[in-house]
Amino acid sequence: MAEDFSLGTVKVALSPLARLEEYLRSRGMRMTQQRRCLLDHVFSRHEHFDADSLIEQMPSSGREGHVSRPTVYRTLNEFVDAGLLRRFQLGGRSMYEHDYGYPQHDHLHCLECQKLIEFKSDELLELRSHVARENRFHVTGHRLIISGICEDCRRGQRRMRRRAGVG
Ligand SMILES: [Zn+2]
Ligand SMILES: [Zn+2]
Repeated sequence: MAEDFSLGTVKVALSPLARLEEYLRSRGMRMTQQRRCLLDHVFSRHEHFDADSLIEQMPSSGREGHVSRPTVYRTLNEFVDAGLLRRFQLGGRSMYEHDYGYPQHDHLHCLECQKLIEFKSDELLELRSHVARENRFHVTGHRLIISGICEDCRRGQRRMRRRAGVG
């Protein structure tokens, strides 16, 4: 599944590891091997993923670096809490992606191939401020997911229609 992540990074004061260590310290918790493994894995590249796909990518039971399912779920919650990951709902599933060190952005979601295309829009942020001002509303964040069919899938559909002698 080819995805387009071209938004670059934003400068942050700490590495994800230092940020997690700070968060754990503030809660009186310790850095464990499992937390460290998951953090390294999750921050090795920018991706949209759910807990199940993360579990599939980790070493299986009995192998070095294996992390149990409940630990994956619990640790993902900690990462969200620590501001490292952002969680969002997509078709009834909880999806995760980098928040720390990654720019604010929104998504186009293809209903055919499930691809998520990222985009940034200053106009959208202006609209957000405008609507918030009108409603005397203090904004803490937003999430916009535009649903539809991506270009690749539409091309595929056109080809199929042509083959079937329609359109
Ligand atoms: Zn598509
Ligand atoms: Zn994204």
